[in-house]
Amino acid sequence: AVQLANRVSALTPSSTLAITAKAKAMKAEGIDVIGLGAGEPDFNTPQHIIDAAAESMNKGFTKYTATGGLPELKKAIINKFKQDQHIDYHASEIIVTNGAKHALYTLFQVLLNRGDEVIIPIPYWVSYPEQVKLAGGQPVYINGQEKNNFKITPDQLTATITNKTKALIINSPSNPTGMLYTKEELTKIGEICLEHNILIISDEIYEKLIYDFHQHVSVAEISPELKNQTIIINGVSKSHSMTGWRIGYAAGNSEIIKAMTDLASHSTSNPTTPSQYGAIAAYNGSQEAVEMMREAFENRLNKIYKKLISIPGISCLKPQGAFYLFPNVKEAAEITGFKTVDELATALLEEANVAVIPGSGFGAPDYIRLSYATSLENLEEAVKRIEQYINNKI
Ligand code: PLP
Repeated sequence: AVQLANRVSALTPSSTLAITAKAKAMKAEGIDVIGLGAGEPDFNTPQHIIDAAAESMNKGFTKYTATGGLPELKKAIINKFKQDQHIDYHASEIIVTNGAKHALYTLFQVLLNRGDEVIIPIPYWVSYPEQVKLAGGQPVYINGQEKNNFKITPDQLTATITNKTKALIINSPSNPTGMLYTKEELTKIGEICLEHNILIISDEIYEKLIYDFHQHVSVAEISPELKNQTIIINGVSKSHSMTGWRIGYAAGNSEIIKAMTDLASHSTSNPTTPSQYGAIAAYNGSQEAVEMMREAFENRLNKIYKKLISIPGISCLKPQGAFYLFPNVKEAAEITGFKTVDELATALLEEANVAVIPGSGFGAPDYIRLSYATSLENLEEAVKRIEQYINNKI
């Protein structure tokens, strides 16, 4: 047998992928499955971005760039921060990476020594714990309770901090809950992190997808001290429907950014050159398409949210951002005769032909995640199937 490294044996394969793979296999057999598992916008990348990337290649910009990203792209990102967050960053405080996921991976690699603790609020994005473990760190969880909109409280944070706590992850808006931290909440959390010298890792990848009256606030924009205590993670995947382009970035303390850049110089080198030119166009060009996609998501959300919560055994807080619904379906599992929500999710796929992601993969086993990054027609049909399935079983 092959002897793999210990660090790999601790890896948990992505739970979101298992059900998606099964849904794909069923589709290949000709079964009419509706997938609500998607973690990416269903729109194509705006045309002017595609054109800019094509043009760059035709001009011969097909070679390596600076490891941390093209100076022009860093400038575009700096302008974005100035405009949206009113924060001034220097180019030495920015690294462009192969997606936000790679920014996080590289960050944990340069930040963590064996045993260093990283606080991860539950429900969490599936890659955080795995990336922390791969870097030798120890994930420590705080249960974000539904009654607190799945957000952690200052008291919970204080009670969880030890002398090994190195960082806290904040993901606002959150995947999978869609909830946003307010400025007041972030101010309190930020004060605690400053007091204990805990780095705040602020994953703001869903920043542009905000609904109703809600507002996105970055913890880094609250004060100069908090800017220095925070690494912002962001990218163009969700905002500009560019998941396949693999452009993300990190912004913060220049020593951390330099270490990340040094590590990238020996692992990935620069992010793909044409994608960087595309990202320049994404930030410097018209933002009309970004707003158009946001409106489409909001419209879908408003159309299906009410239908979803009218289904017996299902309750759901209304998401404030991102493109996921995270309903509590514990009661729905019970009244349909399943011991766990995981079993209900499997049955929904096999018998109702709707693919949803069980919340167990996000640390929240009473919930399922439904993505509304698919057509309204699909969404309405999917919710109808779930409703019929549950009503037939009770
Ligand atoms: N962070 C969160 C919370 C996400 O949901 C995702 C993508 O699903 C990412 C980061 C990574 O995005 P990308 O690597 O495509 O930039």
